[in-house]
Amino acid sequence: MIDKRNFYINGNWVAPVKARDCLVIDPSTEEACAIISLGDQADTDSAVEAATEAFPAWSATAPAERAKYVKAILAQYEDRKEEMAAAISLEMGAPIDMARDSQAPCLPWHLENFLTAFEEVEWIRPLGPHTPNDRIALDPIGVVGLITPWNWPMNQVTLKVIPALLAGCTIVLKPSEEAPLSSILFAEFVHDAGVPNGVFNLVNGDGMGVGSQLSRHDDVAMISFTGSTRAGKAISLAAAETLKRVTLELGGKGANVIFADADPKAVKRGVIQCMQNSGQSCNAPTRMLVERSIYDQAVETAAEVAGKISVGPASEPGRHIGPVVNKTQWEKIQSMIAVGIEEGARLVAGGLGLPEGVNRGYFVRPTIFADVNNDMRIAREEIFGPVLSIIPFETEEEAVAIANDTPYGLTNYVQSQDGAKRNRMALALRSGMVEMNGKSRAAGAPFGGVKMSGRAREGGVWGIEEFLEVKVISGWAAE
Ligand code: NAD
Repeated sequence: MIDKRNFYINGNWVAPVKARDCLVIDPSTEEACAIISLGDQADTDSAVEAATEAFPAWSATAPAERAKYVKAILAQYEDRKEEMAAAISLEMGAPIDMARDSQAPCLPWHLENFLTAFEEVEWIRPLGPHTPNDRIALDPIGVVGLITPWNWPMNQVTLKVIPALLAGCTIVLKPSEEAPLSSILFAEFVHDAGVPNGVFNLVNGDGMGVGSQLSRHDDVAMISFTGSTRAGKAISLAAAETLKRVTLELGGKGANVIFADADPKAVKRGVIQCMQNSGQSCNAPTRMLVERSIYDQAVETAAEVAGKISVGPASEPGRHIGPVVNKTQWEKIQSMIAVGIEEGARLVAGGLGLPEGVNRGYFVRPTIFADVNNDMRIAREEIFGPVLSIIPFETEEEAVAIANDTPYGLTNYVQSQDGAKRNRMALALRSGMVEMNGKSRAAGAPFGGVKMSGRAREGGVWGIEEFLEVKVISGWAAE
């Protein structure tokens, strides 16, 4: 079994102060595949202390110097990307081809985009032509605690660690205890890239332990968190006493509004996007809103598409979807499918229990409910599994009202060939992101939501600014 019990603190792999083993379970087999440690207050303190000591020197480096280290991390990834795909696939169940083609490449994609955005950061600039002796300067915020989830592990780690490094912050990363292996490998990249001791530290642990210790810590200036809305609230409360900055990327219940004039692939695309990563994406379009005149056909197509999605072990090559991450998630998804049935939604694909022929692993049948009412729990709560709710609508106004009637506001989707209608919809939808006609966000776009989906913008220049403080200087000696 893989033994990764040590933490990465001050440039060394160190044993936990108190042994507390935690098994990492392969969700395809339900068997333990690795062993890690859960940290304690003393481990958290030691990592924060290393980051605090490293901060003055790191924050004073020239931006170009920091970019050089980030490029060295990219070079490490290029040499070891197959290992990264394998680690992600094993720990959270993404099928190996998907881990190789979608999960692991999040690292180079975000890293390169941040390097581009970094060039736009003006570290010191005039306030305006009216006041020649005033300057706006940007300072790194300090020691940052980064807490990440398991569903797109390297995506979230890269979206936090790279801009924090570029901004001049020093770091304590606490990855998800469900999916720690990719982050441990990432720490090896950072080490081999020669990043100075103490600038980046990794302590494994659970939310109640290292997660809340970082959130409360006097010497941590900011927590950047991605995960559930529940944990986002707990972190905000824990962080309140020290008034640290808290940025939150939380859950979603995205609407995918399909008008009668949508392109013919819109329904199929929506189903596949919902089921991708076994439905474990915060921005998954899990409510499909369909205009009444094409509703029956859309339900039929959606059921057909779901029926053709195969489910299988993460280690097998192919375009199937894998298991969900763990037993708790599997049980939660089953209970939500049962809720949908009890609520009277029409089950048109999938349903309760394991897929046919499967007797172990946390596999879920790709499931579709039609005739869903937006008041039902399956339309309101994030299920985080391969479960789609289809809701009919009559008019554009009704579509907007249903889409916005949710506690969340991460990504909404619109499908229509009428450009003016699409643009009206984009402006009317209350979410951090709107993606239309299958067009995904471009490089440099900020990722984040509104309402219960949190408050943060990750990626591009916004993602770097999250880690910076604005300082106003008057009386500056003009050159
Ligand atoms: P989770 O909130 O249970 O855990 C996420 C991380 O927070 C883990 O590292 C965990 O140990 C830690 N944590 C848990 N409770 C904590 C606490 N009280 N204090 C400090 N840390 C704590 O979430 P999860 O189950 O790992 O991930 C799934 C959730 O993440 C979903 O709700 C999903 O929508 C959300 N998510 C959001 C985004 C986004 O960008 N908006 C991206 C991915 C996932």
